[in-house]
Amino acid sequence: MKNSLKKTEGQIEAERMRALRELNLIDTAPSESFDRITRMASRLFGAPISAVSLTDVDRQWFKSRVGCGTEIPRDKAPCAEVTRSSDFLFVRDLAADPRFAGGILPESGVRFYAGAPLTTKEGYTLGSMCVLDTEPRDFSEEEARSLVDLAAMVMAQIELQHALGRLEPSSGLPNRAQFSEDIEDLARDHPGEARTAVMFDLADAADLAQAMRVLGPAYLDELTRVASGALRPMRDEGHDIYHVSTTQFAAIFPEEEEKRLRERLTTHLGALAEAARHSGLSATPGIAVGLAPFRLGETSAGAVLRSAHHAAQDAREADAAFGLYSATTDEAHQRRYALLEGLRAALREEGQFSLVYQPRIELASGTCTGAEALLRWNHPELGAVSPGEFIPLAEQSDLARPLTDWVLDAALSQMRGWRHAGLAVRVSVNVSAANLEEEDFGLRLAAALARHSVSPSWLEIEFTESALIRHRARVIANLAEIRALGIACAIDDFGTGYSSFSYLQDFPADTIKIDQAFIRTLVPGSRGSVLVASIVAMARDLGYRVVAEGVETQEVCDFLASCDCDEAQGYLFSRPVPPQDFVRWLAAGGEAERRIA
Ligand code: C2E
Ligand code: MG
Ligand code: MG
Repeated sequence: MKNSLKKTEGQIEAERMRALRELNLIDTAPSESFDRITRMASRLFGAPISAVSLTDVDRQWFKSRVGCGTEIPRDKAPCAEVTRSSDFLFVRDLAADPRFAGGILPESGVRFYAGAPLTTKEGYTLGSMCVLDTEPRDFSEEEARSLVDLAAMVMAQIELQHALGRLEPSSGLPNRAQFSEDIEDLARDHPGEARTAVMFDLADAADLAQAMRVLGPAYLDELTRVASGALRPMRDEGHDIYHVSTTQFAAIFPEEEEKRLRERLTTHLGALAEAARHSGLSATPGIAVGLAPFRLGETSAGAVLRSAHHAAQDAREADAAFGLYSATTDEAHQRRYALLEGLRAALREEGQFSLVYQPRIELASGTCTGAEALLRWNHPELGAVSPGEFIPLAEQSDLARPLTDWVLDAALSQMRGWRHAGLAVRVSVNVSAANLEEEDFGLRLAAALARHSVSPSWLEIEFTESALIRHRARVIANLAEIRALGIACAIDDFGTGYSSFSYLQDFPADTIKIDQAFIRTLVPGSRGSVLVASIVAMARDLGYRVVAEGVETQEVCDFLASCDCDEAQGYLFSRPVPPQDFVRWLAAGGEAERRIA
């Protein structure tokens, strides 16, 4: 029994120490706001010594002091007794009191002590507001009340300082720093327990920017006011609501069945939407809610918020009210992000990008007519990344332009090298749809050709039909300009997109490359083969040269030749290979002819 009581005291002291540590007061610099109170105490009671004394593990440390040093041992210190009892303490003569006699204070000539406890709202006594004198003296009840008042002023100052930086001024709600602290506290008290973080994301960034552009910053203030007002009732249910970023609020829920949590949140969401409607907000915010389950102590507060934000983004993208955090989509997002960052680095640094070349074969003669340059990326950590993965990412960002510039430069420099070695190879370079929307694309092409002294007739540009979806007029003008320079144009992946022969009529191109989806699995005599034969015939009738991509078997190659398809490209002849291997392949040139024969 005695043992368990002792343990409880130990626990209480541990909690008290934690409360003290969290206030970040110990060993901090003197501050005028506290010193003012100590000076006042000294004057008020005519005492030569006064202090704001905090009880640390084994010492009394003085946050503010008049007439004494910075700390004394906790043992036999009257302030430690104030902390222990959480009571006002008056000692007329320390030297005559067995509890304190022999302690450092009476030993150094201090006789009188009066101290009022410094107690937090949660009931933890941090230390004492005390006055001391070198003479034994009395202390009236009125003086005692004044000292208690001063202690309350010290506590108000401590709590004010603590709240500063922990409350979001615009909403008056605890902020992200408080969220982090509370998660850490919870993790300490309930390690390993499951919780769900909920994030209310008030508005899509683009929508918000648009609304603020029209309505000014007052819109954001109003949105914050309405949202914090509507979400505040959650606190009555015992859930703190935190204002974690300008337009985001978060809460932590105990683990409960997701369905039940959604039901409860639907109520809060309803209240929020209702409040927005009645507030006269000029633009209704699009609110998305993200749920992120996590285990206390296993995930940092930052990671919890990031997951909940991610889930809210998922909800927004899916046009749903709620999104549940998914590690899979998160990983995919993170990889995409890492790849984009990696692409930027790869464009700055040497050695990550390279080009491989895949020959194109004229079916009638069996000769190699040129090669397609294909980009390869060796990421320093992730290894080889397929262009099928990184090219679309580059195309969704601002990287399509520098990436194509890199490829063009590398291909033209290779062509010049080959020319010097007496090899004339026509090279096709893939460009992104966005490149064909660039005003100066033709000019840049011409400049690059001149820089490398390569004749335009040796270069071909490949692009997909998606280039024609937007800015059609701009793209068509650019293509006309490119062809006028003497550069051939090929429509890549024909048949997969928006292909319609009516499109082709006004598409300035020389060549059509039938997508490998039609070719790889082609079975002569099947419906698919009829389709391919028709595409070849029609394209040729319209005056295009036709290339079949993805030719893997001799059977398919023979079939294409029988349809009068002009050229073929595929693993049957060669995989895309580094330039030196391509040259070797060319030198052993009979290979292709043997297959065609
Ligand atoms: P694409 O331009 O249609 O290139 C043909 C793709 O098919 C290449 O994939 C090639 O390796 C593959 N291929 C060729 N023959 C065969 C075959 O017989 N069987 C099979 N299964 N596949 C074959 P790769 O190199 O992975 O490139 C994929 C796509 O990435 C390219 O399709 C192109 O759209 C894009 N890409 C590659 N390099 C560049 C570049 O430098 N710039 C741009 N903008 N896009 C590029
Ligand atoms: Mg291509
Ligand atoms: Mg293709």
